[in-house]
Parts: sequence; C-alpha cells; structure tokens
Amino acid sequence: SRKKLVAANWKMNGSSALVNMISTTLQSIAPQVDILICPPATLLSAFPTAHAFQLGGQDISAHVAGAYTGQISAELLLAAGARYALVGHSERREYQFETDQLIAAKVATAVAAGLTPLLCIGETLAERQQEKTEQVIAKQLAAVYASHPELLQKSVLAYEPIWAIGTGESATPEQAQQIHAFIRAELAKYDADAAQQVKILYGGSVNAENCAALFTQPDIDGALVGGASLKPEEFAQICLSA
Ligand code: 13P
Repeated sequence: SRKKLVAANWKMNGSSALVNMISTTLQSIAPQVDILICPPATLLSAFPTAHAFQLGGQDISAHVAGAYTGQISAELLLAAGARYALVGHSERREYQFETDQLIAAKVATAVAAGLTPLLCIGETLAERQQEKTEQVIAKQLAAVYASHPELLQKSVLAYEPIWAIGTGESATPEQAQQIHAFIRAELAKYDADAAQQVKILYGGSVNAENCAALFTQPDIDGALVGGASLKPEEFAQICLSA
C-alpha cells in the first residue's frame, strides 16, 4: 500500500515568518503521512535544518550547470536542502511556455541528480468540455515515460485539472478518482510494477473541508495544495486528514 504524501506549493508567496510558522505548526503534529513543502527557492535555506517534512523546489533546470541566467540546478536545490522538485506545473507550462519535451528533460535531470520529480499533469476546462481529458493526459505522460520508463519508479505524480486550480472548485472525489485510475493504467504500459507503487496526488482547490473525501479514493495518494498551504493551521489539518 502507498503511504500518503501531502505537498504544499507556495507558488510566489511566503516569507521567513511563514517558514517559521509552518515549521513550528508541523512540529507539533505527528501525522502518519509524508509532508513536502515547496517554497520559493530563496526561502529553502531559511527552514531549520531539522524538520519533520521534506523540502522541494517549484521548478528545476534541465541543465546541469552553466550559462543559464536565472535557472536553478538540481545540485543547487540539493545544497539548499531540497529532495524533490515540482516539474511541469501548469503555471510554468502556460506562463513560461514549457513544452512536454522540456518537462521530460527536467524529470530526467532531477532523477539523475537524486531528486524526486513531482510531475504535474492535467487538462484545461476547454479540453474537458471537448472530452479530451484522457487524450491530453496520455500525451503528457507519454512525453516523459515512453522513451524512459525507468524514470517512473523514481517519480511522484500530481493530477491538477487546470479548471480546479485557484478557483475554489475542486474536482469531485469521483471525478478525480476516475482520472487517477486512468493515469495509473496508462503508466502500467510503461512499467506495471512502478505504476502500482507510484504516488498520484490530487491538486486543485484542496482545503480542510474537501480533503478527507478525496483521500478515501483508492487511487488518490495525497494532495498538492496551493492556497490552503499558506495557512499553517489549515495545512496541518489537511496533513492530519491524510
Ligand atoms: P490551489 O490549491 O490554490 O487551487 O492550487 C493548486 C496548485 O496549483 C498546487 O500546485
């Protein structure tokens, strides 16, 4: 059985004050769950060295080192305390024009360096309305794993329907479960054993009220939380519900 993982994506938010509040709040709970915090990279080093959760970057360069102004390598993330990196978040696909090819390269770079990539996938509202959800997701998965199935056993995935991100409108537990089961079946084409082991998180307007019902679904292995992860008490509640 897969241990649940609750991950926080702070996006372009946070402060050293929030680092301290979250660290203190999470220390006082002892959840039976893995916890991951992905703050802006400039705050990674602000976390106390002993913490009861993992840290991750919100992105990673596809390159190992060199003349890539503004990018952050796997080695730099590791040195700052990160053990994970988000890859392919929809906001980076949209605003930074990240392609499936670049995202595949980032997953490979992360794994080669010993970081766990948390690969984000999901469809737009228009794609869902046109009943293209499965087609879009299959393509996003194939871009990463078809030619490198060995990366799957080192990966965590997050299904984040774009229409549910920051809208207050989470997918229903049944809607999410249906797609999570589809994702796991697709992944089984690349590595059947790894597909059973891999954690698939749900993301999109997860909060303290809706998380428990999501977590009861058989193929939902945790959550990737945006807005609610900036509220220490609510985020702790989500962790305790997992
Ligand atoms: P919200 O929880 O704010 O909808 O954000 C979800 C998300 O994009 C996490 O990566």
